[in-house]
Amino acid sequence: MKRYCIALDAGTTSIRAFLFDLEARRFVHRVGQEVASSYPHPGWVEQDAGEIYYKAAYVVADCVRAAGDGEVLGLGITNQRETVVLFDGETGDPVYPAIVWQCRRTSDYCASIPKEDAAKIREKTGLLPDAYFSASKIKWVLENVPAARELLRKGRLRAGTIDAYLVWKFTEGRSFSTDYTNASRTMLFNLCTLRWDEDLLAYFGISEAMLPAVLPSDAVLGRMEIGRSAFPIAGVLGDQQSALFGQACLAPGDAKVTYGTGLFMLLPTESLVIPQNGLLATVARSVKGNTVYALEGSMFHAGSGVQWLRDELGLIENAAESERIAASVSDTGGVFFVPAFTGLGAPYWDPDARALLSGITRGTRREHIVRAVLEGIAYGARDLCACMREGGASLRVLKCDGGASANNFLMQFQADVLGLPVDRPAERESTALGAALMCAIALGAIGEEDVPSFRTAERLFAPSLAREKYDGLYAKYRSAVARALLKE
Ligand code: ADP
Repeated sequence: MKRYCIALDAGTTSIRAFLFDLEARRFVHRVGQEVASSYPHPGWVEQDAGEIYYKAAYVVADCVRAAGDGEVLGLGITNQRETVVLFDGETGDPVYPAIVWQCRRTSDYCASIPKEDAAKIREKTGLLPDAYFSASKIKWVLENVPAARELLRKGRLRAGTIDAYLVWKFTEGRSFSTDYTNASRTMLFNLCTLRWDEDLLAYFGISEAMLPAVLPSDAVLGRMEIGRSAFPIAGVLGDQQSALFGQACLAPGDAKVTYGTGLFMLLPTESLVIPQNGLLATVARSVKGNTVYALEGSMFHAGSGVQWLRDELGLIENAAESERIAASVSDTGGVFFVPAFTGLGAPYWDPDARALLSGITRGTRREHIVRAVLEGIAYGARDLCACMREGGASLRVLKCDGGASANNFLMQFQADVLGLPVDRPAERESTALGAALMCAIALGAIGEEDVPSFRTAERLFAPSLAREKYDGLYAKYRSAVARALLKE
């Protein structure tokens, strides 16, 4: 009989489920549903948690159907991180829409956190106080939604990231659990003790009774029934950590970069390192009692620059075309693009910086601009690598995924500008693959040492030997960045 794991990827724009055939070692069925976001005020982003749940249940049920007579061993979950849902622990009904990671409603509060407190938060959680993380979002609901306070008084209020909420719903309240990787994005989780941190809970006015139990990534969290099938929920990882795992970046030195709307770079480290240069520290995974940490750096905008070329400038018809157009010229003719549409993250941290096209001459053509936008993504990734190296990390290889990793020009330029090989896998759904493999590990079907054998390279982009040329280009990019910054 065939044996399957289902991977549920509860992302920001879509909820997808993948049926992983353990013998064939690949996904044999994929299904997805779009998820709506609402923007009730400038900078606010919310989602309907009920919609997230019923679409998740729908796509999982579809995979169960596709499994036919085969055995579904279990469900692994990966999810958009930081987004929180506050709900009634008796009925499962949300008291307020899910506040999405992108939501900036608490940014004034986070900016008001004194420097000494911010330093303590960083030491404990590896994070910089920011509206992005869950803590200030939970605090906001407690302060602004009377129904939440009412339930809190009755001891019925629960607050969880999307994984914890889905586990509660799938198990009908029998399990309310999250994993270390998701907990490490809340700004309430102590990276050393691997527990909710009492001081931080008090600081943000959040009681531990509201929060899920925190378990290792390979835990069995509960049992769910769907139709006539019943199986365990086993294996949970936040989306970026799941991609890292699916890319088999298990050892220090193996970095992965996801080139999507934004860009996320994660690199496992030997031990817990709290960076001081704007990168974050996070839990990469915790398997068989062994917790591995990672450094994380991100760019808010990467592929979104390509969308801008298409939608606002009309310079390209579709994203894929950017590859051919960029490769049709031998360089940008001195044009540089800094993708700071909404400010710059690590290592600059200037929320007021704005995007910049520099070096334009009368001879600048659309090909140069398209190429400069792609090159800007690669330079940004080099900034992040430089931060990681500054902290003592070594980098051997960069494994890529995400929509824009399909672009051969971009991947080759990335290898050249970093001086590192870029390795693209055959299965680009690294996030779902990570969850499927973690599920198989949690249920004893495979071991962690088997993970690399499930990843096949599709193409390796070797770096150019002309290091000086690319170092020179990068230096010019840095001077363009200096002009994009508004911070003193
Ligand atoms: P997300 O998960 O953030 O929605 P995806 O991983 O689906 O993103 O990637 C979509 C992004 O990748 C878009 O911003 C799009 O412009 C960009 N993209 C997709 N294909 C290409 C390509 N061939 N070349 C360059 N950019 C691309």
